[in-house]
Amino acid sequence: MRKRIACALLVCAALLSGCKRAAEPVKFTTFAMDTVMDITLYGQDSDKTAAVYETLTAQISALDSALSVTGEDSDIARINRGSGAPVEVAPGTAQLLSQALELCRVTEGALDITAYPAVKAWGFTVGEHRVPSKEELAALAADIDYAAVQLEGDAVALPDGMELDLGAVAKGCAGDILAREVRDSDISSALLDLGQSTIVAVGAKPGGQPWRIGVVDPAQPGTYFAVVELEDMAMGTSGGYQRYFEQDGAIYWHILDPRTAAPARAGLASVTVVSPSALVCDGLSTALFVMGLDEGAQFWRDHPELEFEAIFVAENGEIYCTAGLEGRFSLAEGYEAREVVVLE
Ligand code: ADP
Ligand code: MG
Repeated sequence: MRKRIACALLVCAALLSGCKRAAEPVKFTTFAMDTVMDITLYGQDSDKTAAVYETLTAQISALDSALSVTGEDSDIARINRGSGAPVEVAPGTAQLLSQALELCRVTEGALDITAYPAVKAWGFTVGEHRVPSKEELAALAADIDYAAVQLEGDAVALPDGMELDLGAVAKGCAGDILAREVRDSDISSALLDLGQSTIVAVGAKPGGQPWRIGVVDPAQPGTYFAVVELEDMAMGTSGGYQRYFEQDGAIYWHILDPRTAAPARAGLASVTVVSPSALVCDGLSTALFVMGLDEGAQFWRDHPELEFEAIFVAENGEIYCTAGLEGRFSLAEGYEAREVVVLE
């Protein structure tokens, strides 16, 4: 994550000229959390929409500064430097940590926010990739344990040598916070694309139709194999294709199995989660990717309280979709002949 927003590009003519034309969308692109975010707001009053835009950019910037694992003074960096002593963090950070830890617990550690030293060892943080030795991986895996994170009030203590990172859930958290802000304003329709396949639809499209969002084909990341209709709903995808490197003919991706500290190979190429909560989408897409199809499908059956549906794409190209997506999921043009197995 970067400490500052690199660019904030306002492309709405109505906003730039200050004129009051109803229902002109305000679109802006901003760089935060290591990714490009595209926000589109459809408001009736351009002044109000502009005010919401200001609030959202400020919130994205604040979240980015608080949650960045590399920023010197971020809450997360201070926790990681804490050497076992409790570190006071902002109430928002403590709340997110608590939600993230709950997702770690419910997924029984398939999601583990303390995987950061392993992510670093593979070189994913700086792009200097390497394959750690078996011994190194065993030592890294032994130190991955979300249960060792102590959160009391707004104080967080982490055993010396461990480090945490909210990379797997931060965009989802941002999505929920921004969506709440948009809903609290007069804006009834917005699309918040938080980059790298985390998206929140607020309301429906201005005409009343649901948003139609493409799901990337992991075998051809430039194209969409399916379309999901979203209305007041979030969607997030995790996949090996998003960040990886190749060495000696083998591919190593950025989603790690906390049990081995090595890239999670459970037979999946991507997992997409649809839920009212973007945090659930972000956290569970990573976790289900680690679990694999059978365990992931069982997790879906066992956890109706999490209110999510999922689309699994196996490494062999097979497509699976949970029953609750029927009517909202369709294959994209060019993929109509593909079989979709509905999970019950
Ligand atoms: P992205 O950040 O590309 O959208 P994810 O949401 O799936 O993808 O998060 C993956 C990131 O989370 C990795 O880049 C790494 O920093 C971290 N990570 C990798 N494996 C795990 C895991 N099992 N649990 C928690 N975080 C992980
Ligand atoms: Mg994630």
